[in-house]
Amino acid sequence: MLEKLRVEVFKANLELVERGLVIHTWGNASGRDPETGLIVIKPSGVSYASMKPEDMVVLNPDGTVAEGKYKPSTDAPTHLLLYKKWKTIGGVVHTHSGYATSWAQAGMAIPALGTTHADHFYGEVPCTRKLKKREIDVDYELNTGRVIIETFKGCDPLTVPSVLVNMHGPFSWGTDVNNAVYNAVALEEIAHIAMNTFLLGHSKPVSKALLDKHYNRKHGSNSYYGQNKK
Ligand SMILES: [Zn+2]
Repeated sequence: MLEKLRVEVFKANLELVERGLVIHTWGNASGRDPETGLIVIKPSGVSYASMKPEDMVVLNPDGTVAEGKYKPSTDAPTHLLLYKKWKTIGGVVHTHSGYATSWAQAGMAIPALGTTHADHFYGEVPCTRKLKKREIDVDYELNTGRVIIETFKGCDPLTVPSVLVNMHGPFSWGTDVNNAVYNAVALEEIAHIAMNTFLLGHSKPVSKALLDKHYNRKHGSNSYYGQNKK
């Protein structure tokens, strides 16, 4: 079942390690099959050294296992809620990458401090509110998803495809699992650059004009970055 997507999700999980965003088993990636709506996700706690594409777990949208011998990632309820609420996304990635996690632990959004950020994220990367005790005690992973959805209320999640979960770490998403990994890599880089910029004593965001120029030349109907698409 979904062999191609299993391989893609397997490779995406390994790429997170290769790019230094994940150590040990501190991360997970998933992808949604656009035809069936089934979700393929990394198994819980299986080492990357021994992991194989067939170890990926196929989930129904309600979280029940459609196929797979392992339990899914413990963060599966967060992934599933994002897929349920945001029909345009096809991949979700969670890591504890150092720089993005530092901002999350500080409870701080990452402002758009320059064009590197503006090329990729249309505005600040927000940080969620803290979870309340009862939200931590019961349905913690589902409530993590809820607080992400709450943070993006009224916003198109694909224009800012990452969030910082307060005191925890980043989640990124995209049109498919590869795009979600791409966004997670971009997030870590802009988190790193922003931290250095703060250390140099500057924390003022770019102007709306510069943000619009850089975001819109790469994204949307009037984009002109790259080669013409035929
Ligand atoms: Zn985590």
